[in-house]
Amino acid sequence: MIKNAVADRMYLLEGESAFTVLARARALEDQGRHIIHMEIGQPDFNTPPNIIEAGCRAITGGYTGYTPAPGYPELRQTITDYALRQKGVTASKDDVIVATGTKPVIFYTILMLVNPRDEVIYPNPGFPAYNSCIQFAGGVPVPLNFSAKNDFRLDLDEFEKLITKKTKLVIINSPSNPTGGVFTREDIEGIAKILKKHEDIFILSDEIYDRLVYDEEVYSIAAVPGFKDRTIIADGLSKAYAMTGWRLGYGIMHPELAKHMELLVINSNSCAAAFTQIAAIEALNGPQEAVESMGDAFLKRRNYLVEALNSIKGINCRTPKGAFYVFPDISSFGLPCEVFAELLLNEAGVAASWGTAFGSFGEGHIRLSYATSLDNIELAVERIEKFTKTL
Ligand code: PMP
Repeated sequence: MIKNAVADRMYLLEGESAFTVLARARALEDQGRHIIHMEIGQPDFNTPPNIIEAGCRAITGGYTGYTPAPGYPELRQTITDYALRQKGVTASKDDVIVATGTKPVIFYTILMLVNPRDEVIYPNPGFPAYNSCIQFAGGVPVPLNFSAKNDFRLDLDEFEKLITKKTKLVIINSPSNPTGGVFTREDIEGIAKILKKHEDIFILSDEIYDRLVYDEEVYSIAAVPGFKDRTIIADGLSKAYAMTGWRLGYGIMHPELAKHMELLVINSNSCAAAFTQIAAIEALNGPQEAVESMGDAFLKRRNYLVEALNSIKGINCRTPKGAFYVFPDISSFGLPCEVFAELLLNEAGVAASWGTAFGSFGEGHIRLSYATSLDNIELAVERIEKFTKTL
């Protein structure tokens, strides 16, 4: 009865493996099992105290009502100043839409730009919401291969070959979830050079991990001359400031597009929470030491984890340059990656996502988040090694 009642488009939406695995892991924990959580992309640090204090002061100070739909002007100005400092992107506050996370900005951008049958090039393996939202909008998802075959790198020739007259949008994500890959300046300039020949194509640049890069520079395509007006930057505070639950993200785009996105906000959320917006101003303008110390901790963990995984027979793990995920190759064990991840959870108590949850080109891999303590990571590696010996 319900199945028939639900609109057809609902069957075009997909879930997210990290949340599926989290639910399975919690069920095992309820049975008394000890599970190491490496499935979810959430910093294991608390939100820095100055941000929490700003949020609390805002609640007690009366910031508890609706705000302007695109966000408080002061926050939008703060975001433009930040975009110039961090991304080298010059924008005005009319270009900024504040949202309840980065995910809504992705969803809104696709709903705003993609007509049925429009083609959208997106990274595969990549963040699952891209493919899901493209399908929901009636668009045609066109996967751009970022697999190990390409060393998780962008192949510009392959990219150019995917462009057709129907291409409406290109989605890029650097640093990448799930591979941790980071575009070099040459990569960004290469994409821009190709897209200069196709003026009608827009770019959605998901920059949520751009504060989490290790010994690399990060570049926004919106900073390339001529590209600001064709790019929608999606970013947010979840990862850099350990604020996943505060739900605060933003889009930066051409002001005419911002007017359209504002309508999507009005018709869905009305606005992001007032006190969260005030806390966000503190996050972006206040001291940044906490971001740096979290980054140092992630780097230590990454270095340990990559080396430890590579010392396990049958596992091959490249060194990710950003974000907080490793995407090791486990294909030598001869199991579909989803089965490997399921056994790893059930038999070894290590919760991980599997490669194909990020698209078909992710086969042969699992994704482990190192947003957990070094002690947990050490124990996880021990368990993984023991588990692989049973295969
Ligand atoms: N983009 C990518 C690539 C992500 O990995 C995530 C979170 N896992 C998001 C967007 C969504 O972040 P937010 O919490 O800001 O909605």
